[in-house]
Formats: sequence, structure tokens, C-alpha cells
Amino acid sequence: MLSKRLSNMIPSYTIGISSKVSKLKSEGIKVLDLSIGDPDFKVPQKAIDYGINSLENNITKYDLANGLKILREEISKKLLKENNVKYNPDEIVVSSGAKNCITNTFLALTNTYDEVLIPSPYWVSYIETVKLLNCIPVVVSTSKENNFKVTISDLEKYKTEKTKVLLLNNPSNPTGVIYTKEELLEIVDFCYKNNIYIISDEIYERICFDTEFISIASLSEKAKKITITINGFSKSVAMTGLRVGYTASNKKIADAIKNIQGHLISHPSVTSQYVAYGALKECENEIDEMVKIYKKRRDVACNLLNDIDEISYIYPNGAFYVFVDLSKIKEKIKYEESFSIEFCNLILEKENVALVPGIAFGMDDFVRISFACSEDTLTNGILKIKSFISNL
Ligand code: PMP
Ligand code: GLU
Repeated sequence: MLSKRLSNMIPSYTIGISSKVSKLKSEGIKVLDLSIGDPDFKVPQKAIDYGINSLENNITKYDLANGLKILREEISKKLLKENNVKYNPDEIVVSSGAKNCITNTFLALTNTYDEVLIPSPYWVSYIETVKLLNCIPVVVSTSKENNFKVTISDLEKYKTEKTKVLLLNNPSNPTGVIYTKEELLEIVDFCYKNNIYIISDEIYERICFDTEFISIASLSEKAKKITITINGFSKSVAMTGLRVGYTASNKKIADAIKNIQGHLISHPSVTSQYVAYGALKECENEIDEMVKIYKKRRDVACNLLNDIDEISYIYPNGAFYVFVDLSKIKEKIKYEESFSIEFCNLILEKENVALVPGIAFGMDDFVRISFACSEDTLTNGILKIKSFISNL
């Protein structure tokens, strides 16, 4: 018998779709893949060289549980320079991707049945991770008029005595919206007053187009005290497969995360950490270049979507996704349980376009388009969405 914790766990939709696309591709089918957020860019060569050099110098043994000292020093400099927040290297823990950081942080902060506020739409793995850790995910409804950004009046409705953490994603996957300083200050005030920690998932922080990004911990000493920042290299340096992320928090929480990690994984791959170190030291221009290209793709995607009458979307100021509202065409598709899954199945089957169903993010009237793919794939994919919708 498997553990009861699996009984209501839904496997990751994004990983599921990605596997489906790989299978179709291996059968020779050409798929326009606008599904998973896996950047099509190569990791900059200068960063890769750091990994290669570390291997050639036989740096292949166990190292510190909280991550390479030189990498944590470099992250500490980055946080000060780019995010205006001071963390000592021993307040940073490097882990195997942001996913691993989120799990470690929950293990460090929560007890069984603690409640976690998760604004909707939410990134696909939040709910399941919280459930796996025997906590209670509390989905906080937000309004489309506010671009699905959570407000304190939304949070107020769902807060209870048992609320331990607010899990906030900024910039947001799937909407690409970015919170303003004023909005964040209100959220911090609310959480501080109510003894709620903020896990601030800032993995898309580097991919911002026309809005300034503000890291919550930089707002005030009060904000820093209750915030655990999650970040990583998967999105900013296109290093998804190398699995490097990090937390920044106060020393007490960092030590707890380090000790948990020491048991669970020891530390992330040393080679990958060297690549991350090289990326921070040498690749600022390459990263800026990628962001410029994402911005162009965002514009291409939005222009094409503007031409489809039946849909609307949330305008993304960051990350690399567009969250598209299909509620106006809902009655044109026959479905049993989920409209968005049926829509995505049909468009994959008929047009070979892969999208992620909105239900993965808690909103079944929507689908998510990723522009972490080439401009050609993006353009052809959206044109196919247009013709698919007009033929319904
Ligand atoms: N948070 C969000 C919002 C994400 O979209 C992702 C997907 N990459 C992650 C965390 C996990 O990232 P990583 O690859 O670093 O585990
Ligand atoms: N976070 C990315 C996405 O939402 C990658 C897939 C995943 O890690 O779930 O598509």
C-alpha cells in the first residue's frame, strides 16, 4: 500500500504535458509547443565553462550542505546590487531548484494542518506540495478586475487562527503580473500584524519588461523578518535541467533549511552550482539579451491575440506566459469534467499545438501560453489557436 498522502495528489500538469509532447515528437510529429516554461535559450557558454573547469579540476566531492561558499557570496552580492536587500552568505541556502527550496522552507516553518494562503491563479505545484507536507492549502480568490493580484481584503476573508504562511508568486506564473511597491507594503503589513510568514517566490524576478520589480524583503526590516525569498537559475539563465535555486531568509530559518537539506539531499550538484556561479559572475549581458527577446515575444504574442475576438487575456509585464480567458467560447466545446483540459486535448490532437489547461492554475476558463519558445513557434501556434477557435 502506498502512503495516504498520495491519495489526493494530482501529478504535475506541466510535467505531464511536456512528457506527452516529447512522446509525440519522438513519433515524428511536429508539435508547436507553447506549454512548459522551459526556455529555448542555451545556457551562456561562459557559465558552462565554470562547470567544465570544476569537473576538470576534480571538484566532484561532497561540499557544504547550504551550497558552495563562493556561490552564496555571489548571490549575496546580487541581492544587494539588484534587489537592494542585504543577506549574509550564511543566510542563503542553495538547493536543487526553486521547487526544492519551497519544500525545504515548508518543512522548516510548518506543522501538520497549518494553513497556507495561496492566491489563485497559482503555480501548478503549490497546492500539491503543501498537501504532501500535511498542511492545508487555502486557495484565495482574487478578481480579474485587479488582474488577479491578491489584495488584503481578499486575504482577510481566508485568514484563520491556523494561517501560518502566505505563498506569493511575483512576477506571477501564469499571469505575468507584477505587484507594485504599495501593494506589497499592504500585504506585508497584513502578514506582520497576523503573524504570517511570506514565502515570496521570485523566480521570474529577472524577467520584467515594463514595470520595476520590487523584492518584498527589500521593503523594510519588518518585511525582511517575515519573508523567505525563493529564487533560482532555471528561468533567468535558462538552466532548468541543472537544478539550482536558493532561499534567502533570516539565519535561524536558513540554518533550519540547511539542516533539513543535509539529511534530504546533502546539497545540489557541485557542477551545477559552479555553472550558476559563472552565470552570476560573467553573464549579466547574456541575461539582459534573453529578457529583451522575451519582451519582443510578449509583444508578438499580445498583438496576435488582440486579433482573436472571442478571447481576452491578462497583459503580462513579466515572466514568459500569457493567461488567456476562453470563457466566451466555453459553450462551443463538449466536456465532462474540465473545459480547459478538453480544449488543450483537442487543440493538441487537431492542430498539434500544446498549451497548459487553466485548471492546472485553478481556473478552468483559461489556458496558458508560454513564450519560452522561438518566435516562429509562438506565431504559428497562436495563428493555429485563432483558426481552431474560428472553426469551432
Ligand atoms: N516557482 C514557479 C512560479 C515556477 O514557475 C517554477 C517552474 N520552474 C518553479 C517555482 C520551480 O523552478 P525550478 O526549476 O527552479 O525548480
Ligand atoms: N514552472 C514551469 C511551468 O510552469 C516549468 C514546469 C514545472 O516546473 O512545473 O511550466
